[in-house]
Parts: sequence; C-alpha cells; structure tokens
Amino acid sequence: MKITTITDKKVSLRRTIDTGTEEQRKIVQSIITDVRGQGDAALFSYTEKFDRVLLDSLKVTEAEYAAAYEALDQELVDIIREAAANIRSFHEKQKRESWFSYNEEGTMLGQKITALDAVGVYVPGGTAAYPSSVLMNVIPAQVAGVKRIVLVSPPNQEGTLPAGVLVAAKELGIEEIYKVGGAQAIAALAYGTETIAAVDKIMGPGNIFVALAKREVFGNVDIDMIAGPSEIVVLSDETAKANEIAADLLSQAEHDKQASSILVTTSMKQAEEVKAEVERQVETLPRKEIAKASIEAYGHIYVAENLETAIAVVNELAPEHLEVLTENPMASLNEIRHAGAIFLGRYSSEPVGDYFAGPNHVLPTNGTARFSSPLNVDDFMKKSSIIQYSEKAFHNNYEKVAKLARLEGLEAHARAMEERLK
Ligand code: NAD
Repeated sequence: MKITTITDKKVSLRRTIDTGTEEQRKIVQSIITDVRGQGDAALFSYTEKFDRVLLDSLKVTEAEYAAAYEALDQELVDIIREAAANIRSFHEKQKRESWFSYNEEGTMLGQKITALDAVGVYVPGGTAAYPSSVLMNVIPAQVAGVKRIVLVSPPNQEGTLPAGVLVAAKELGIEEIYKVGGAQAIAALAYGTETIAAVDKIMGPGNIFVALAKREVFGNVDIDMIAGPSEIVVLSDETAKANEIAADLLSQAEHDKQASSILVTTSMKQAEEVKAEVERQVETLPRKEIAKASIEAYGHIYVAENLETAIAVVNELAPEHLEVLTENPMASLNEIRHAGAIFLGRYSSEPVGDYFAGPNHVLPTNGTARFSSPLNVDDFMKKSSIIQYSEKAFHNNYEKVAKLARLEGLEAHARAMEERLK
C-alpha cells in the first residue's frame, strides 16, 4: 500500500463515475432494443449466451424454493430472519406521513405521500451470492408500502439462483422472482415483456452492463443510483489496533478488484504497521487474488499531521463507508460532513452494518456522499402537493396571481382567475 503524508487540508481527491466504453454502451443499447422488440424470446437467448443456460421458464418455481430451504442450515435461516427484523425496525423509523395545514382564510395546503406501485430489484449474480442485497432493497420498499416488488437475478449453470437469495426473498414474501440478469433484465423491468410486467423504479447494484442499462432506461423509469465499486475509509489515531484496521480494509478489498480501501491516520508508525498487517493477512484469504489486486491498485494510506487535517481528507474522499477508530469517535462526528455510513468505534466493524445492524448497506459510492444519502424509505415514496383555496383566500389574492401571470405574458392564466368573478 502506498503511504502519502498530507499536511495541507485542501487536498484534492475527487473521483469520477465509470461510464463504460463506447463498445459497452453499444452492446447495452442493442440488448435493450432486442428486449423491446422480441420480449421473452430475447431474455431466453441472452441468458443462454451470457449465463450459458437454456431455461424453459423465467420464473422461480416452488420446487426451487423448497430446494433452497433444504440447502440452507436452519441456523442461517434464523439469522436471515433476525437481520430482516433489524433492517425493518430501522426503516420503520424513516417512514413519513402525509400532512395538511390550514390557515385562517380557510386555505388548505398539504403533501400527500404515495408509495410507488411497482419496483424491480436487481440482485447481482456471478461468483458471489447476495441475500443481503435482497433484504436491503426489498425491506424499505415494503415499509414504504410498495405493492409489487419484482426480483431479477442471473441464473447459475444449474439454471437456478443461490439458495441464500431464494430463502431471503421467500422470507420477505416476494412472489415474483425471475431468472434473468444483465442489461436484458433491466430492459425487461423498464419496458415489460410477456412474462415480466414493467415497473416504475429499478434498484440494485450490478456490473458495468447493468449500470449502463440503468442509465439508459432512466427517465422512462426511475433508478436508485449508479453504484460504483465499494469503498472504505478508516479514520484512525494511534489508539487503534493495526491488525483490526488491516482486517477491515481487506473486508472491502475482497469485494472486487476495483474496490478501494483507504486509511487516513495521524500516526506514521501505525501506517507502517497496517501496511505490513495487510500484506500478512491477505495471504490467507480465499479471495486473495481479488483483494491483492484491489489493494495494489486502489489501497492507500494517508498520514495527516493532525486529526483536523485527517477529517478534511475524509470529507474530500466522501467515502461510502467510514470507520472512525479514534480515541473519542463521537467527538469527530460533528466535523464529518460527507460519508454514506459512519461506523463509530472498534466494535462497529463495517460488516456489522453490511449485514445485520439495520441501516441500509446501499450507500453512495465514488464520492457521491457529497450530495446523496443511503437507500431509504423515501426512495420508494413520492409526494403530491395539495392546494385547496377558499373563496375568501381567492378574493384576497386573485389580483396578485393575475399580475404575476401577465408579467410572464400568460394572459389565459390571468383570465382564468378573473373568470371566477363573473
Ligand atoms: P451481474 O449480475 O452484475 O452481471 C451478470 C450479467 O452481466 C450476466 O448475466 C450478463 O447478462 C451480463 N454480462 C456479462 N458479460 C457480458 C458481456 N460481455 N456483454 C453483455 N452482458 C454481459 O454479476 P457480476 O458480473 O458477477 O457482477 C456483480 C457486480 O455487482 C460486481 O461488479 C460487484 O462489485 C457488484 N456489487 C456491488 C455491490 C454494491 O453495493 N456496490 C453489492 C453487490 C455486488
């Protein structure tokens, strides 16, 4: 890991989002065109091409759910249930109500809150299985009151989905799961096919083809975000333990080769110890190749001259995950302005939040924590403004409205007001 000393608080570390290559964009556009034109037939043929399995049905069957429960230890099913309960309880606190306010003229103004009708959740496939993605995307939608929640995920070589994903979905009462991934799944959710009816919003992470497809269909449907590779920043002083910091950095690095693991510390001695610990611990990890590549390309240690400068670096990085491993983490919270999730103290290691604690693990990546928030119940709700003017309020205000309309050259607007005086 590279070690850099930082003495200037005005460090510039902004990153940009990967928008793919011209070729990848073209591939995604042509997949979307095919799905719009050929519906299910395109889904079957792209699944055969990319996932190397010829399905006879896109929908997960009851037999597949039964096999999934069979494959998973009861203890794990219970842990999934407990995690789901924690996540639900946290998100219940985010729920907003409609509100209406009245003034003395008898005017009523308000905001009516309505859950989205239908959302689609993309659950990535590939080498890893992500039951936690199911819990984190579906539960806030359920808390918001979304009636139709559809899951899509690419099938494995056996033509089914990982047991953990199926059990998590079943535990949440999801009825529509389709075995389709990549840009073709996003196109199906956005435009609909014979089997998959279109949704209003598409959630969930995925590889570059999934991300580009979401970007492509945005506007026709809403999307959650364009998720970049996962990142962690650990902010520490000399009181933190090098072996624990190294373990946490590696827990991020094993996600994928583009993941970034960064330490911002006030101690050069600790920086050197962490570097050595990372090199030692990575050797015994099952996903060693991925973690090594990630650490080599994106791992970095910044040594700041004091905590104030270190926090400035953290704010500039605006990380997805931030662990604060200082003597008094709470004391720094006020100064930390940009981070998706903030883990305070050594017992709040990031995986606690990834899986179990309750807050959402879908977080802004790539420095977008400067302007966006973790996935939350609001993402599944929309607001309608309510305006009800009384006769008295109308008479007191119609001239002002007409004057503003004429200022904008919109005579019919002004006359709509005056018509009511006749
Ligand atoms: P994926 O489900 O994202 O993508 C698999 C699909 O990609 C395939 O079904 C296929 O349709 C499509 N595809 C593959 N190669 C293609 C090609 N050459 N042309 C067109 N389409 C092609 O699964 P994955 O690829 O294993 O990637 C999972 C991704 O999800 C990783 O990038 C991982 O980092 C990311 N992820 C992110 C988070 C997060 O919170 N940020 C969480 C979990 C996973």
